[in-house]
Amino acid sequence: MQSIIRLENITKSYFMGSQAIPVLKGITLDIFKNEYVALMGPSGSGKSTLMNILGCLDTPTGGKYILNGQDVSKMPDDSLADVRNGEIGFVFQQFNLLPRLTAAENVALPLIYAGIPKKERMERAMEALRKVGLADRSHHKSNEMSGGQIQRVAIARALVNNPSLLLADEPTGNLDSKTSVEVMEIFGQIQAAGNTVVLVTHEEDIAEYAKRVVRLRDGVIETDKLNAHKEAVV
Ligand code: ADP
Ligand code: MG
Repeated sequence: MQSIIRLENITKSYFMGSQAIPVLKGITLDIFKNEYVALMGPSGSGKSTLMNILGCLDTPTGGKYILNGQDVSKMPDDSLADVRNGEIGFVFQQFNLLPRLTAAENVALPLIYAGIPKKERMERAMEALRKVGLADRSHHKSNEMSGGQIQRVAIARALVNNPSLLLADEPTGNLDSKTSVEVMEIFGQIQAAGNTVVLVTHEEDIAEYAKRVVRLRDGVIETDKLNAHKEAVV
């Protein structure tokens, strides 16, 4: 199997004045193409720090990050931005939709920055909305949609560039349990369609929907296991 993510002894410290505070303390991990991985761990264990590194939103202090065969750990910021825009879709706990725009316009936003003409933007936005089952909500604004629908629009926006890697940091953190399950099933469909999905959750029953669970504790990997009932289909 081919790794889409290869981490070799990744460390990350935050600096408070001259004092270094170690947060990631040597993470070595391979994630293969087309996996569906849940990253778990207590609050403060370094999940978001790791996701930001995976998403090329931040750089590690030490170690190596190979994304799709390319060493991104020491890339300058502008090259990192290209990698981010080309290969990665990111979904946050806060949905971050622009309230004055419709669902389709929100989904199309990353394509404006990519300089794609309007007609194609709208076609691709509709295609992404179809993938999350929301083609019939394309003209709705945030205040006309439920929390789950808004999060699905945010997922569509993350998919609109056809990224090979979809990352989501606590995407169900603001949703009730029924809606969380719907969102996890959408991620499952996205994975089944060929993407690699890595998401953070701190809820055990939500992590059940992923096929592999990696647990962090205090900046190191504590366990890394396939979900037993999913093993047959991996
Ligand atoms: P998690 O997502 O698992 O809750 P985080 O990665 O957000 O954990 O944080 C891990 C640790 O790093 C925490 O102790 C947090 O306070 C600290 N931390 C996170 N971001 C910063 C930052 N920008 N500056 C300083 N410390 C930070
Ligand atoms: Mg976090």
